[in-house]
Amino acid sequence: SDSEEGRMRIAVLDGDGIGPEVVPAAVSVAERALDKQGIGVQVTRLPFGAAAIDSHGVPIPGSTLDALAEFDLWLVGPHDSAAYPAELRHPAPGAVMRKQFDLFSNLRPARAVSGVPATTPDIDVLIVRENSEGLYADRNMAVGSGEFMPTPDVALSVGLITRTATERIAVEAFEAARRRRGHVTVVHKANVLRMTTGLFRDVCLQVAQRYPDVRVDTEHVDAMAALLVRRPADFDVIVTENLFGDILSDLAAELSGSLGLAASLNSSADRAMAQAVHGAAPDIAGRGLANPVATIASAAMLLRWHGERSADDATLRAADAIDGAVSHVLADGVLTADLGGSASTAEFTRAVIEAL
Ligand code: ATP
Ligand code: MG
Repeated sequence: SDSEEGRMRIAVLDGDGIGPEVVPAAVSVAERALDKQGIGVQVTRLPFGAAAIDSHGVPIPGSTLDALAEFDLWLVGPHDSAAYPAELRHPAPGAVMRKQFDLFSNLRPARAVSGVPATTPDIDVLIVRENSEGLYADRNMAVGSGEFMPTPDVALSVGLITRTATERIAVEAFEAARRRRGHVTVVHKANVLRMTTGLFRDVCLQVAQRYPDVRVDTEHVDAMAALLVRRPADFDVIVTENLFGDILSDLAAELSGSLGLAASLNSSADRAMAQAVHGAAPDIAGRGLANPVATIASAAMLLRWHGERSADDATLRAADAIDGAVSHVLADGVLTADLGGSASTAEFTRAVIEAL
């Protein structure tokens, strides 16, 4: 179970690049917020990424996967596969974890916050991205790698959409809409990718019938990109397939301020993994410059996921307190360099802990 003798158990994987800076920052913020609610935390660090190559010869050792199976709650840093020896780059550790633990759902909220200039100050959306199918080759379980080259000059990619996987992500989206503003937009490209994204759209609309209290509409992905810029306030929850969700969530993150703020939660039916949207940022790693907000806010999503499933109000209060403290510190003008400020990772984190 998640908590034994009142202690919450979290598996922590620091990862590469700025991971060892932003992940411990998020752990210390989560510990403080939970402590305020009388909840103790037991953190178990597991080898992952370049550090695991040094100690175990691979970026995601079997021992780490076995240990992860014992935890419901994971907080994970970025991995920088490009920096690994060529023979260890594929499959990427993230893909192995998603596959082995069926982390099919990827929730990516994007909301402008006061204190940080945004291209679209009124954006407040939740992108619900299907995370196990679509065109993403190394995530595609049913058809092997999903990509192949029949000749050196011809490359093919297979896109997979199934009713089962679409139904479960649609349920995530409609449930999330009930907790938000009660509106789901189904994003597809069924005028061209008629069978695959057409099935995605149709199954989502069938699931919508079970949620008469939630307003539903549909958009083509290209129109959605334009509308997110033109009138973001018209959107609440956006549900879409893997590739479209990846692209739209980077767009939404930048519209709301910065990639450094973009949180994300991956989950299966019984586990959740908090991991920022951004990558390892090797260009700024090791210099105390990294913005820890994305990882801290991902940790808050992790606690909210846990609190909702276990109807645990104290954990939900801790999650709200983290979001509140981060907003307060940003509004106060404590900003890291990516947001135009001069606070270090440690200074920003200290300010959040003080605000808590
Ligand atoms: P990946 O392929 O892993 O997604 P990427 O190539 O998209 O990685 P990121 O590592 O996300 O790149 O970084 C993109 C840019 O944003 C870099 O210039 C990086 O320094 C900056 N950046 C990313 N995350 C942060 C952060 N948390 N704080 C400050 N700057 C960041
Ligand atoms: Mg990227």
